[in-house]
Amino acid sequence: MITATQLIHSIPVDELTGAISVPIYQTSTFVQEAPGINKGYDYARTGNPTRSALEHIIAQLEAGTTGIAFASGLAAIDAVIKLLKSGDEVVAVDDIYGGAYRLFTHIFEKFGIKVNYVDATNAENVFNAITSNTKLVWIETPTNPTLKISDIAAIAKIAKACGALLCVDNTFASPALQQPLLLGADIVLHSATKYLGGHSDSIAGLVVTKDEALGEQIKFIQNASGAILSPFDSWLIIRGIETLHLRIKQHCINAQIVAEFLEGHPAVDIVYYPGLPAHHNHHIAKQQSRGFGGVVSFTLKENTEEAANHFVTSTHLFKLAESLGGVKSLLCHPAQMTHKSIPAAIRRAAGVADSLVRLSVGLEDADDLIKDIELALANIHEPIKDAVSTQYTHSL
Ligand code: PLP
Repeated sequence: MITATQLIHSIPVDELTGAISVPIYQTSTFVQEAPGINKGYDYARTGNPTRSALEHIIAQLEAGTTGIAFASGLAAIDAVIKLLKSGDEVVAVDDIYGGAYRLFTHIFEKFGIKVNYVDATNAENVFNAITSNTKLVWIETPTNPTLKISDIAAIAKIAKACGALLCVDNTFASPALQQPLLLGADIVLHSATKYLGGHSDSIAGLVVTKDEALGEQIKFIQNASGAILSPFDSWLIIRGIETLHLRIKQHCINAQIVAEFLEGHPAVDIVYYPGLPAHHNHHIAKQQSRGFGGVVSFTLKENTEEAANHFVTSTHLFKLAESLGGVKSLLCHPAQMTHKSIPAAIRRAAGVADSLVRLSVGLEDADDLIKDIELALANIHEPIKDAVSTQYTHSL
């Protein structure tokens, strides 16, 4: 596992000036001495020193050879799928991020790439879904939003034996908690918008490969398709990474407290958090990760969209917004927000119930977060945002 020291010192000091912060090279092109003779850069879509710094940093953090930075997590997913050709198949985890599902179904199916969805919490299901055309296995662990855990090492073995690549979307864990390439995966992917950036101020995607040749193929796609990360956003993600260790530690502590509170609340039905011993694959999460992350989902006993709506409009500290992984707590109702592009029957079958609420537990004081949730739960029959006066232990 990567240490705090390794993480902080993966960020280089600028060789030219000694700047402790990576400089932002806000340029579109680079002057050449003669055609093809340059200082390592020619055109900023192909390469930019600020982006290169981020790409090297994430490659180190994920213990891979090649890092590639994209304009969003979805652009990163798009680039990985472009490794495939018509007739190829993907086996993907069923509780997949809604945007990935939309991309696979509405864009790539048109190009003859078929995706089979399975419950990957049992590695045998992955094995059973693989056909002779399967070229890629795609898992998220923990998944978004039901925090399902899959055994990366077991699935990596299966993929390898069947001649398929394994890509792990590591967005929810981050390399501070989990390094899939060390467990046998071939590709690791991030929506760096989340924990890596960490401050809800940038949209970014990252890919890391174990193998250099595979990395070169994705770099080719990055340049050919053009969905690169800007120099300023690259800098923001680098700055976020500097404090990743510290932030993740506190996210995990706060999320565990919130999950345990929810577990004991009479209005709550199921709590999804890998750090709870009752979680289906708690033992696997413990084995392959250093911690359980900052996202907690739960369903209400009153399993209706209406009850969920009342809850998500009644919190004060948890802000109703898409996204997760920032310092401020957020919450969302996946059925109407992040996962609305998944048909209701498929969504429900994957465990995303009508009342399911996803919490991105931030870095506020845990007792304030508990109070916020407690008051909102008391309010699920009262659709009045300001009905309850809020007295937080810590001043805001
Ligand atoms: N992967 C996961 C697990 C996500 O949660 C998201 C976005 O929420 C993405 C990928 C897509 O990332 P982005 O929003 O940066 O395009």
